Amino acid sequence: MLSYKEAFSLIKEQFQNLNLETETVKLEDSLHRTLAEDIVSDINLPPFDNSAVDGYAVQFDASINEWEIIGEISAGNFKEYNLLKNQTIKIMTGAKIPEICTAVIPIEAVEVHNRKIKLSAGSRYLDGMNIRRKKSDIAEGVTAVEKGTFLKPRHLASIASCGKSEIRVYKKLKFGILATGDELIPVNEKPEGDKIRVSNVYSLLGEVLALNQEAINFGFINDDKEKIKEKINNILNSDIDILLTTGGVSVGEYDYLKDIFEELGVKKIFWRAFIKPGKPCYFGIFNKNNKTKLVFGLPGNPVSSQVNFKVYIKENINNLFGIQNIGQIKAELLNDLRKKDKKRCFMKGILKKEKDEYFVTSKFSQSSGNMVELSNANCLIVIEEEHLNPKKGERVNCIPM
Ligand code: AMP
Ligand code: MG
Repeated sequence: MLSYKEAFSLIKEQFQNLNLETETVKLEDSLHRTLAEDIVSDINLPPFDNSAVDGYAVQFDASINEWEIIGEISAGNFKEYNLLKNQTIKIMTGAKIPEICTAVIPIEAVEVHNRKIKLSAGSRYLDGMNIRRKKSDIAEGVTAVEKGTFLKPRHLASIASCGKSEIRVYKKLKFGILATGDELIPVNEKPEGDKIRVSNVYSLLGEVLALNQEAINFGFINDDKEKIKEKINNILNSDIDILLTTGGVSVGEYDYLKDIFEELGVKKIFWRAFIKPGKPCYFGIFNKNNKTKLVFGLPGNPVSSQVNFKVYIKENINNLFGIQNIGQIKAELLNDLRKKDKKRCFMKGILKKEKDEYFVTSKFSQSSGNMVELSNANCLIVIEEEHLNPKKGERVNCIPM
């Protein structure tokens, strides 16, 4: 059976081969999208020398400490003044500075009497002070925000300043999500007998939306091979990029998904990797009109399907869309853990930071059926293959979630 690393690299290879399409969006709709073009400034920024403070613009001369106020310039209302060395212009933050001025003294550093100012005792007065120079932020023609950048609020201001109200971004990947199982019922019904609510669809939708990708909920379908096959055939031939199914991919009698994928022409890349939870994960590719779609048959166990998404898919989306990978955090284990075999284990844990140290506890059952436990955890503790029965006090890697 494949190791986690082998399985992950097979998935990674397919993600890297995806050809992301692009689209134009309005700047106000571009938060958390990924730039598909370089944003080049069409002007110098700032476009003119301007004042960094509310104050008084003067020609620097260390021998002078009193000036006569002869005018005023506010931001957006420039007027040129040809002042003498003992004259000053009252100037506001962001206002363009008269050509001749070489310093701005802050309002707080002077005393004002009638139309005169005097440098207060103890105030500093330096050549060039409080002037924000033309093009000190960026020069015309220079790239301000690079292609591939995942857009945060701070980038939007830069792009706006470069004069772009519409930008080219990568299209979101469209995930189709389908659950299978005879036991499933809708969330708004009360399960009777041996039925359970279809919870996995919602965690998977959430995982996809949290990465700002598109998710289509195809609901659930009972363990009827022909019906599942027809449904999956329709989904694979729709415009989705990635199919996530959950359930029916293990070794049980009614686990039809692997056969269905094969019959529909999905090329299997692997089935099962030596991890816990989430061992029975299936991964394949489906080619349609020269476009490759990724197919994940995730197990039905609620913790398994979520862990599979987190450890196989999330990092790949992050890499593709330039989203920062938080990575793993080393923490001291506060209790012993049971790990009897050489699978790579992802255990539910609670990570906390005290002063500068991280600590992690895990009093959970680690059952792959206990989804409420998972929702009360805030990290997955990664225990590597060879590492058996980790002991309190050991340092372990944690994936925050
Ligand atoms: P399976 O992978 O189909 O063998 O299912 C494994 C376990 O996950 C069983 O206990 C199922 O009842 C449960 N399960 C399957 N699908 C879902 C789902 N969509 N939501 C919650 N539990 C599920
Ligand atoms: Mg099933």
